[in-house]
Amino acid sequence: MGGSDDGFEFICTRRIEFDAAHRILNHESKCKMLHGHRYALEASFTAKKLDDLGRVIDFGTIREVLGSWVEEHLDHNTILSIKDKKLGGKISSETGQKIYYLKENPTAENIANHLLKEICPKLFAKKNVKCVAIKLYETPNCYVETK
Ligand SMILES: [Zn+2]
Repeated sequence: MGGSDDGFEFICTRRIEFDAAHRILNHESKCKMLHGHRYALEASFTAKKLDDLGRVIDFGTIREVLGSWVEEHLDHNTILSIKDKKLGGKISSETGQKIYYLKENPTAENIANHLLKEICPKLFAKKNVKCVAIKLYETPNCYVETK
C-alpha cells in the first residue's frame, strides 16, 4: 500500500435514502412552501490505513451507524430552521413528530454540511475513519457535495 498522509487512496462510500419534508424560509419561489423529498445521501469515508480484513470500514457499519441515526432523526420527519419554530410547533402538536431543527435554512447545502461537520464526527469518533465528503440529492437531478 502506498498511502501517504495527505493522499490515502481509498474512499468508501455508502448511499442511504430517506424521506423528509422541509421548507426554505424567504425562498423566492415555491420552496418556501412545506414540501417533501426522497433524499439520497452518499457519505464517504477514509482511514489512515485499511483494517485487518482490508477495508476502510465495513459498508454494513456505515448503514448501522449513520443509517440508524438518519432513520431516527430525519426519515419521515420535517427539517426546519430554528427560525421556523412557530411552524415546527404546529406540526409537532398535530403529529407528535420531534422536528429536526438546523441553525440555518434546511437547504441541501446546510443539511450536508451539518452531517459532515457535526453528526458524522460524533457518530464515527471511535471507528478509526473520517467522513470526508457528503453528497446529498434532493431529486435524482439535483445534489450538493461538501468536503
Ligand atoms: Zn425542497
